[in-house]
Amino acid sequence: MGAFTLIPFGLHLKSNQVVDVGSVQNGIKCDCICPSCKTPLIARHGSIKEWHFAHQSRDVKKKTEKPCDYSFAVSVRLMMKQLFEEGAMLCLPSYSKSLSATIPGSKHPYSHRYTLTEEKVVQFDTVESELMRNGVMVDLVLKIGSFELVVYITYDGRRIPEQLKSPENNSGVIEFNVMSLMQAFEETKSGQYKDALIEFLARSHTGKYWHYHPREGRFQQRHDEFVSDNKETLLADIDTARGIYQNTNIYTGPATHTKTTEIANAPQKTLTTSKQQSRIYALEKGSESVYVLLGSQKASYENGEGFRENTMGKYTDFRESMLHLCIKCEHRWEGKSNLCNQCQNFEYTRSVF
Ligand SMILES: [Zn+2]
Ligand SMILES: [Zn+2]
Repeated sequence: MGAFTLIPFGLHLKSNQVVDVGSVQNGIKCDCICPSCKTPLIARHGSIKEWHFAHQSRDVKKKTEKPCDYSFAVSVRLMMKQLFEEGAMLCLPSYSKSLSATIPGSKHPYSHRYTLTEEKVVQFDTVESELMRNGVMVDLVLKIGSFELVVYITYDGRRIPEQLKSPENNSGVIEFNVMSLMQAFEETKSGQYKDALIEFLARSHTGKYWHYHPREGRFQQRHDEFVSDNKETLLADIDTARGIYQNTNIYTGPATHTKTTEIANAPQKTLTTSKQQSRIYALEKGSESVYVLLGSQKASYENGEGFRENTMGKYTDFRESMLHLCIKCEHRWEGKSNLCNQCQNFEYTRSVF
């Protein structure tokens, strides 16, 4: 299954069921049409390529209005709908998200990463396809009780629309990238793609990405309340960090060496074990309590930079006790420079003190 021109599922005319190429007769006797462009299909039970459907002839293909580029994705969507109608299970990945709120009386935001849902396997009551949500035609709408899950299918050249990332009706929104099926399909013998898809949907979280979870609103509200209730503590925390950082000239753009003498005067603190642990945690995963200085944005575990991450470029005037980690080669070191001793590069380095 190298390309989208290889079609795993066809629409069987007599039964009006979506079927995999392994469950029909070889050749034109398959009695199937392309679910995308309705051209008659030919089943290819070959010994070299993976079994697949192909459009019946070039002449017929020419007659169809558009080239049939989406047949792989369309056929997978139709098969998914049929499978969910038959009670197929869907493994949903866990979802964690960093939520942010401005601390009242200041311009500082405070962020925290919350787990909105753990990984779970779900069976749905109803399934519908091709409905409009937020002005977008979505692929599947699955319901279980009052919970609605919108599934948007993506592949190279088709990305999830921005509108779906903040849905009006509080549905969950999950992206399913059908390219992730390629490997499972390549390993499937004799065109048994239906079973392969059932297995993949129920067990794998590969290719599935949350874009919105209905709990997000409630968690945001809770986060806002927390920030409001704890504003003094949070602000004091920021001031402490800033007091140390101001001397290192971090907030004024690319690193310069003009204020190096002041660094030596910055408060020296004896680190307790738990502080040491939180520094290491910040280096490895990011943290809400320790500032991390990035060699470049490439060193951020977030998309772009997290709240407590600042890009500073190459720097060679840190204190000797500064901890560094290069996330490219995983080298760690302590010292005055954020240049990775192994890569001789600062772009992937994270630093804390
Ligand atoms: Zn087609
Ligand atoms: Zn390195």
